[in-house]
Parts: sequence; structure tokens; C-alpha cells
Amino acid sequence: MPLEQYRAKRDFKKTPEPIGDKGAATGIFVVQEHDASHLHYDFRFELDGVLKSWAVPKGVPTEAKVKRLAVETEDHPIGYADFEGSIPEGEYGAGTVRIWDSGRSQVLEQDDNRYVVLLAGKKLLGKYALVRFRGRDNNPKNWLIMKLS
Ligand code: MN
Repeated sequence: MPLEQYRAKRDFKKTPEPIGDKGAATGIFVVQEHDASHLHYDFRFELDGVLKSWAVPKGVPTEAKVKRLAVETEDHPIGYADFEGSIPEGEYGAGTVRIWDSGRSQVLEQDDNRYVVLLAGKKLLGKYALVRFRGRDNNPKNWLIMKLS
């Protein structure tokens, strides 16, 4: 069931985050700066009515050929793309969320191990690839994100 994991992790009586639902194909992306236990950037783009999501510790690169680790996280509802605010202490992801960039996205290629997405935001512009990369710890949630052009 879509968004089941998203909902299971959160208590909506305590967090201001949206409960949300699967939505229409909107072709949007967002990068949220998340000042939680560790500052990171959450990269999300719409696919099949949900936001596919990764936590990018060092941020999404703005220059071609820079590879950054992106750790896959649970799908988020479309409405999350507008979310900014404070998640209270003790709740999942406690800390502050701010939108770092947002705009239009178009998925050009997809399979289980790779996405190519065209982004048109203010800071992120161009073709980006996400490639599954197990790395030394063999974690299937590890991906690399890079700007192709
Ligand atoms: Mn986060």
C-alpha cells in the first residue's frame, strides 16, 4: 500500500507534517533542507502520484560529474513538497524542514536500479541520475546522485 511506511513512522497528532495521499502525476520535485540530528537534504520527485525520496547528506550537486551518496527513504505524499516547519522533539525526523529548491521534474528513464530525471528548479537545472550503489556496507538503500548535464 502506498505511503504505509510514511504513515507508520509518524504520529499526526504530534507532527505538523501532512498525512497526505497518493495524488495525480504532477511532475514536481523538491529538495528540503532538514536540520535534524544530522543536517541533510531530502531530494524528492513525483512518480506515480507519490514523492520518491532520498536523504542526501552533502546535498544535491549543482555541478556535473560530482557524485553524492543518496540514501533511499520511504515514499512521501505529494503534499509534502510544500511542507516547511518544525517536527517536535521525540518525533521521527525531529528538527526543522525548509525548502531549498523546487520546480518541475520529468522522469526520463526508470528501472529498479536507476532513474534519470530532468529537473527545472531555481538551483537545480538539468539532467540528474540516481544509481543504486551498494557500497562497502552492501546496503540496498544506498544510491549515488549526480548531475549528468
Ligand atoms: Mn530528512
